Amino acid sequence: MKTDALSGLKGRVIHDQIVLARAPWSHVVRAGETLRIIDVEGNQAVDFLIYSLEDDAERYSFQDTIAAQRNIYLRAGSILRSTEGRPMMTILDTAVAYHDTIGGACSCESNTLRYGHHTRAQHSCVDNFLMANAADGRTKRDMTPNINWFMNVPVEADGTLGIVDGISAAGLHVDLRAEMDVTVVVSNCPQINNPCNGFNPTPVRMIVAA
Ligand SMILES: [Zn+2]
Repeated sequence: MKTDALSGLKGRVIHDQIVLARAPWSHVVRAGETLRIIDVEGNQAVDFLIYSLEDDAERYSFQDTIAAQRNIYLRAGSILRSTEGRPMMTILDTAVAYHDTIGGACSCESNTLRYGHHTRAQHSCVDNFLMANAADGRTKRDMTPNINWFMNVPVEADGTLGIVDGISAAGLHVDLRAEMDVTVVVSNCPQINNPCNGFNPTPVRMIVAA
């Protein structure tokens, strides 16, 4: 664990938790609070959903986010927008050049299609999202396109997507300021069939400062 995990983070730490490899996590982040996500060991994809606390029918929209910023990558300064086009969170700071929001979340269905029937019983991000959402009464109907922090999904000139070796590294972080009261739902991605986690899922650290 890096000792400078809190460097540059403004305010008082009100939550600090390690999310184990392959595990789900959910937390309310109030408007004005900052969530720092630390890629503790490096190249760990963190699948991420955002729901408005007031009405979870309003949730993160990658389409609105991409259209408003006119760029497919999430970088420092990106505003994460809702299905109503409203700012939900802003990326204050990140040492990673860009983060993905088009690669989607791994699931039993996508694993068996891409990697074969023997992967059917492997744990997936959709499993984690369903587990974490169940506490708030959300179901499969509430699965929605996500963000993949620290995941590298390059888009070629002809539009081809890749899921390739990460551009993150141990100890790097992303800081998100909540622009409204939100519930964030995380899957610490358990994928082992492609390089999104370096074939080795690892813990991440979540710090909330107010
Ligand atoms: Zn995943």
